Amino acid sequence: MTARRSDAKAMGMSTDPRLFLDCPFAPEARLPLSREDTHYVLNVMRRAEGDGVRVFNGRDGEWSARIADAHRKGAILELVAQTRPQTGVPDLWLLFAPVKRQKTDLIVEKATELGVREIHPVTTRRTQSDRIKPERFHLLAKEAAEQTERLDLPAIAPIERLERVLDGWDPARLLYYCDEAGDEADAAWGGQAGRAAPMLDVLRADPAGPAALLIGPEGGFSPEERSRMRQLDFVRAVSLGPRILRAETAVIAALALWQAGRGDWA
Ligand code: SAM
Repeated sequence: MTARRSDAKAMGMSTDPRLFLDCPFAPEARLPLSREDTHYVLNVMRRAEGDGVRVFNGRDGEWSARIADAHRKGAILELVAQTRPQTGVPDLWLLFAPVKRQKTDLIVEKATELGVREIHPVTTRRTQSDRIKPERFHLLAKEAAEQTERLDLPAIAPIERLERVLDGWDPARLLYYCDEAGDEADAAWGGQAGRAAPMLDVLRADPAGPAALLIGPEGGFSPEERSRMRQLDFVRAVSLGPRILRAETAVIAALALWQAGRGDWA
């Protein structure tokens, strides 16, 4: 047993691998694992017949299970009992313009770890790529949720044009739009005039409730997009400080600020 596993055991924490399984749970149910999950449990986590596994399906909390059959092509789990009731994450959505593939993957993984309820890829005027693979996003979210102890997966919406998303927006959900720019056309980054207020200050002034964060593409938002968003009542322009962050860094920073100011880190 590694030092980390024995520490966790001494503290009463389970170190059994966790899996998201999209099927109903009941005591003694036998659940066949996919090839990928079998490989993960038997080869990566080095578990064998009789060992414990924790499972969740996004509806029935977390359950303990044991490996009833360690067949290499498809192991079978037998459910034992529920060990944690179902809980959700705060009502926070992430809207982001897809960037290059590896960075987009990072965004989906980190958004899941940081407790986002829904992920909405959007295309903007300067979006670099509108080719996304929802099944890949689902796999990344599944692996991140398994690792991070959450009991559900974020919903992944199909990619949609930002204007259409704004047209159909429910104004009860505040949209925090991360805006690094100022209003002066000739100054670097638009100068200081018209800069958004710091995100934490804006969050503190707003009531609690459903929220979404919007992060732009590497080329930022166009002046037209910026001006439209600033006119909408449900939109709050927010700053993430004086440095221009890459899109994926901005996603992580904004999610951390929201969770600390309004979410379940508070
Ligand atoms: N406008 C820039 C350009 O043309 O290259 C940079 C865009 S930045 C790399 C990508 C996105 O991250 C922006 O659209 C914005 O949503 C967010 N962002 C980056 N730094 C930010 C900051 N300091 N404050 C607010 N948002 C920021």
